[in-house]
Amino acid sequence: MGSATRPRVVILGGGFAGVYTALALEKALGERDDFDVVLVNRENYFVFQPMLPEVISGSIGLTDMVVPLRRLLRRSAVHVRDVETVDLEARVVSTSPGFRPHPHRVGYDHLVLGLGNVTDFRGLPGLPEHALPFKNLGDALRLRNHVIRAFEEASIENEDEALRRQLLTFVVAGGGFSGVEVAAELNDFVREVASSYRGIDPAEVRVVLVHSQERILPEMAEPLALFAQRLLQKRGVELRLRQRLQSATGTEAILAGGARIPTRTLVSTVPASPHPLLESLPLPKGRGGRLVTTPELRVEGAADVWAVGDCALATTPNGTPAPPTAQHAIRQAEVCAHNIVASIRGGGSRVFDFRGLGTMGSLGRHSAVAEVLGLRFSGFPAWWLWRTVYLMKMPGWGRRLKVASSWTLDLFLPPDLVELRLGGSKGLTREHYEPGEEVFREGDIGDSLYIVLSGEAEVVRGESILAHLGPGEVFGEMALIEHTTRSATVRCLSAMDVLRMPQQEFADLAAHLPDLRASVQKVMEGRRGARTIEPP
Ligand SMILES: Cc1cc2nc3c(=O)[nH]c(=O)nc-3n(C[C@H](O)[C@H](O)[C@H](O)COP(=O)(O)OP(=O)(O)OC[C@H]3O[C@@H](n4cnc5c(N)ncnc54)[C@H](O)[C@@H]3O)c2cc1C
Repeated sequence: MGSATRPRVVILGGGFAGVYTALALEKALGERDDFDVVLVNRENYFVFQPMLPEVISGSIGLTDMVVPLRRLLRRSAVHVRDVETVDLEARVVSTSPGFRPHPHRVGYDHLVLGLGNVTDFRGLPGLPEHALPFKNLGDALRLRNHVIRAFEEASIENEDEALRRQLLTFVVAGGGFSGVEVAAELNDFVREVASSYRGIDPAEVRVVLVHSQERILPEMAEPLALFAQRLLQKRGVELRLRQRLQSATGTEAILAGGARIPTRTLVSTVPASPHPLLESLPLPKGRGGRLVTTPELRVEGAADVWAVGDCALATTPNGTPAPPTAQHAIRQAEVCAHNIVASIRGGGSRVFDFRGLGTMGSLGRHSAVAEVLGLRFSGFPAWWLWRTVYLMKMPGWGRRLKVASSWTLDLFLPPDLVELRLGGSKGLTREHYEPGEEVFREGDIGDSLYIVLSGEAEVVRGESILAHLGPGEVFGEMALIEHTTRSATVRCLSAMDVLRMPQQEFADLAAHLPDLRASVQKVMEGRRGARTIEPP
């Protein structure tokens, strides 16, 4: 599959697992040239995820913790594309179209699956529409921008107290490492920036961490987890333990027991689910949909397919599944690369027998918890250890220098408040509403058109009910076409899902599709004629 004479190893995923497999294969190549390495990844950079939460506060620069794959991998061919399909029979991977929509197919002799996992909100009403995941650089940047926007809005919102409360409440769901680190970093950031806004009293700001178990950080020893809980609470984080996030709307996080937290910012680091591409492959899967591997890290029953990192269910020497962490992904990558080389060149194979060096979690502002080689640290010593270890683990001295100087400057300078607006418009979006919620209110600005996907609502003016809305019906057209404010309120009678089309998109489409404008106008006139009163 490689060149006429050389076998080809294709690695899917450029996270810890994929990149470190490629690095180990490049090292094994040395002076030789007896196989090719291809790495396919969605982004053209590698993200050092343990530092991702620091992007929220801007304590390290946006691109300081990412490394371009081409700088890291000197001898591998890098394909920056989405993997779309894998044909295990034909041994071919197909990737998404680039500038020209022609199919792009890469054949392989050995396939390494290192696609990680995904945060999957399916089955949790309102989460796909309203919760922010936290997995990659785009997620971190989106959250940072969103939080700054919430502050900008809250600082000038003097009429609507409820809206102000929602804007200044930040909810994180998931008390594992990533959720705790996000909550800690977010808490530091919002409390520090609140003082830069004249219209905001820092006491109004709430950060809530929702976790389904007895205590946060279940991966750590109890005393360290309890230390983390006390510290977060002392710094103002509200803990909601033994409670599970069940659904969300654009204005509330709804917990399983029925409690509702008004918020415009909901981050969820759970649930972690198997990668959708792997779900569809006829390969053996175990707990959490992860690919079952042999101790050599071959996918069971597949001689030429290997799995590493978060998507693999590799077993540690004590018989438990290796946890989804960067340190395990790196060790698996080394073993996998060794065994691929052994099967190409001949030689003995290795088994994955890494026991883990320990765990560390940052708690923000000069605090962390760490359990390393059987020793426990908390507070400042753990924080110092955390920073030193991760700094030294960053690939390349250039990055280390950048991160170290960002951290140093961060000690003296206030947090940056720049909101980077990247897109002109949000385009067509889906929204979820719970019974009793208002989509918009009489007197609001008419900025969007809505199409009901499921559920029902009523159109209300004052005490009178003007109409009922159900699936397939359009509403919100009147104010949009006539450039007026909403003449009525739309209130949900049941849980309702809608498609929302912003004014600009509607204007663009209507300008080029005269039939669209005509049919919306027909709906409008029909309603006027039927009721002699305008719907919203
Ligand atoms: C916020 C956060 C903090 C963390 N902190 C720590 C920590 O302190 N210590 C620790 O050990 N671990 C930590 N982890 C966990 C650690 O980052 C993961 O275990 C590790 O990244 C797993 O590596 P991976 O290569 O298996 O998956 P990933 O790093 O998720 O990489 C998967 C790669 O595949 C790519 N990909 C996915 N689908 C496609 C597709 N269809 N086409 C092309 N490319 C695709 C993705 O873009 C990504 O680059 C943290 C994770 C997060 C999210």
